[in-house]
Amino acid sequence: MPQTALVTGATSGIGAAFTHALARDGYDLVLVARDEGRLRAAAADLSERHGVATEVLAADLTDREASRAVEERLADAERPVDLLVNNAGMGLRGTFWETDLADQERMLALNCTAVLRLTHAALGAMVPRGRGGVITISSVAGFTPGARGAYSATKAWATVLTESLSTELVGTGVHASVIAPGFVHTEFHQRARLDMSRMPDRMWLDADDVVATALREHQAGKVVSVPGARYKAIVVASRLVPRSAARRVTAIVRRRAM
Ligand code: NAP
Repeated sequence: MPQTALVTGATSGIGAAFTHALARDGYDLVLVARDEGRLRAAAADLSERHGVATEVLAADLTDREASRAVEERLADAERPVDLLVNNAGMGLRGTFWETDLADQERMLALNCTAVLRLTHAALGAMVPRGRGGVITISSVAGFTPGARGAYSATKAWATVLTESLSTELVGTGVHASVIAPGFVHTEFHQRARLDMSRMPDRMWLDADDVVATALREHQAGKVVSVPGARYKAIVVASRLVPRSAARRVTAIVRRRAM
């Protein structure tokens, strides 16, 4: 039986790279994002290139009602989803106090509440079946205090949620992992109106490489994946130095980058 994966934010960047890697591995796909036209084009392209079955679910995951349709699809015992990829996420430009509160609440709804709700629906179906997996896309920003206000906090939450789940899931046949990339060339920064022109080339990762690491390490049973040697070193350092020192370094980097 072919396996089925549901990918949120499937039309661009890291999510699109997931859909191609999973289709190459023979997964049928359920694609979730807001733009239905773009979803349909992506689904047709994946079916044509890889010969897999595709479904589209157009939903704004910041909207609970719209998100419910995705939760119901994950919980459907007749059409099991074997892998959930919680990828859709957003960032914001500007300091915490300058950034519109409604936008910050929307970011929390997408980066945290949607991850909570979809993961809950997926695990409720997977655990009784005794198999399945959840991959959540967090960020290196979740390890570095103050890197980007509430965005860092949402990603820290996603990482810790997955680490907690991985301990609860021991012995169930279901595995949860989180991937924490650094900067990746996608539409993310443009959408958040972030000027990345001063970011050196060496700090950028490729979405396909990020996804290859995520899938390989998820299958190997790893819980937290950090793609790229440079970012691995940053995460190790952030865990070794006192939190106060990490905050000082982040403040210096931030001043230079602005
Ligand atoms: P991206 O290129 O901007 O893609 C975002 C995807 O999410 C699109 O398919 C978009 O489609 C969908 N989306 C956005 N808002 C949505 C909503 N409210 N409901 C449903 N779908 C929504 O971003 P990306 O860089 O690939 O980001 C993917 C994940 O990686 C995010 O969680 C991000 O935080 C994380 N990440 C990115 C970087 C980076 O440097 N790029 C670094 C670390 C972590 P629609 O607009 O059609 O909805």
